[in-house]
Formats: sequence, structure tokens, C-alpha cells
Amino acid sequence: MLALDGVGRTFGSTPALENVSLRVEPGEFVCVVGASGSGKSTLLSIVAGLLPPSSGAVTLDGAPVTGPGPERGLVCQSGAVYPWRTVERNIAFGLELLGLTRSERLARVDWYLAETGLEPFRRSLPKQLSGGQRQRVAIARALACEPAVLLLDEPFGALDVQTKEDMQVFLRQVWQDTGTTVLMVTHDVEEAVFLGGRVVVLASHPGRVTAVVPVELPADRDLSVKRTPAFLALRAQVEDLIRAPGRASRAGSTGYSA
Ligand code: ADP
Ligand code: MG
Repeated sequence: MLALDGVGRTFGSTPALENVSLRVEPGEFVCVVGASGSGKSTLLSIVAGLLPPSSGAVTLDGAPVTGPGPERGLVCQSGAVYPWRTVERNIAFGLELLGLTRSERLARVDWYLAETGLEPFRRSLPKQLSGGQRQRVAIARALACEPAVLLLDEPFGALDVQTKEDMQVFLRQVWQDTGTTVLMVTHDVEEAVFLGGRVVVLASHPGRVTAVVPVELPADRDLSVKRTPAFLALRAQVEDLIRAPGRASRAGSTGYSA
């Protein structure tokens, strides 16, 4: 289990994040949603071990997070794949660092190429791919290390709406197939409700958790769920919570002990 206990972070005298407590159980898909500047990237950087918290602590299965580690794979908006490595060598990158043998690496790479639909592009360079495909490579590369938690920072933020929706379906499928634990941050409420089993609402200045909304939608979701009354009600509830933190929304507020 990933646990954040009273996590805060200030930059100079500016509090970016305040007293965030959150539990993510193995196999969960948790989305954190908040406006730009609400501390989403700060939160993920702290969980990734790239930024120390000013207060509070993060633990993974009881062990304190004190720096980056292969058990926490991070993918950000720009993806950051290595431009000089082919798709398969990008996916193999972390496996080399983990010290897997050549045959173990090949087996893993083959599995994740197939899972992410990148098999036809295994010998392509990132510049030969579309933006969506490059994000698949970044996600496949993180997943191939089989992290305890996959951390996603607005991974589809730079994609057009059509590609973004394809990627949402893709990510939900990968999550179901692999059973991986996902903590994703996004400013996109529709995306958060579509992907998450729970949606954590962050208010801004300072970033703090103001609500946690369980998403009671069918596990097998395709894009058509976005047009259902249940989905639209959840989306409206989360939007209201973002606009008026602390106030009960029309769909009913939930407690926020996450
Ligand atoms: P989000 O990802 O939700 O847009 P961020 O976590 O990037 O939000 O930023 C939260 C707040 O912290 C913002 O006010 C931002 O300006 C500030 N901030 C983030 N990183 C730094 C930094 N390295 N130095 C100073 N201020 C920062
Ligand atoms: Mg950000």
C-alpha cells in the first residue's frame, strides 16, 4: 500500500501542498484532479522521490520513500522517451538497470510490446511515431519494470481529444490486464472519472484534499459510459467540488478521509 501522511511542501514561503493524506491500495486506480497550480505535479514528484516533502511522510508497503526507485515508475506529460533508442530499446531501458538477463529482458519487452500494441513499431525511433504512440512507449517503459505503483502526471495532456480518448481506453485496458496500481494526476475531470476507481479532489493555494469521490461505474467501461446519467452526475459532482471546495455538491458530498 502507498500511504501519504500529512504531506506538505512549501517553495520559499509559498505553500504548494498542505497536509495531504491518502492511501492507495494494491491494484487500485486513483485519480487526483485539480486546477493548474493545485500541486498535482508537486504531489507526484514527492511520491516519485524526486522532491522531498517539507512535512509529513510517504511510505510504500511500510518503507519510507526517500528517493526515486524502480518500484515507483513515473510518466509525465512529455513522456520523455529516449530519442536515440528504438521503441524496444526504450522499453528495455529500465530492465537493463534492474539487471535482468538478456532472455528475461526480451521476454518482458515482447510482452509489453504486445500489450501496448507497439509490436509493429518495435524497431522504430520515437520521432517516427505519433504523439499518442510515443506516450504508449513511455507507459510501456515504466510498466516493463513492473513497479508497485505507476505514477502518471497528466500523461495525455498534450494529445488531441480523439487520441486522448483512445489512450484512456488503452490505459484502462492495460490496468485491467496487468493489475498494476495507478496513481494519476490530471486537470481533466472527465478523464479522472472515466479512469479512476476513486477521484481525489485537490483545491488550490495551497494544494489540499477537499473530497474523495468513489466512482461507482461498471469495471468494464468503454467511451460510451461518458454519456450515461451516472457518469454525468459524477462529473458534475467533481466539478462542483473543484469550484466550491468544502461545500456539499448537488449529488451529495462524500467524506474525504482517503
Ligand atoms: P500543478 O501540477 O497542479 O499545476 P504544481 O505542483 O506544478 O501544480 O505547482 C503547485 C504550486 O507550486 C504552484 O503555485 C507552483 O508555482 C509552485 N511550484 C511548483 N514547483 C515549484 C518550484 N520548483 N519552485 C517554486 N515554486 C514551485
Ligand atoms: Mg503539473
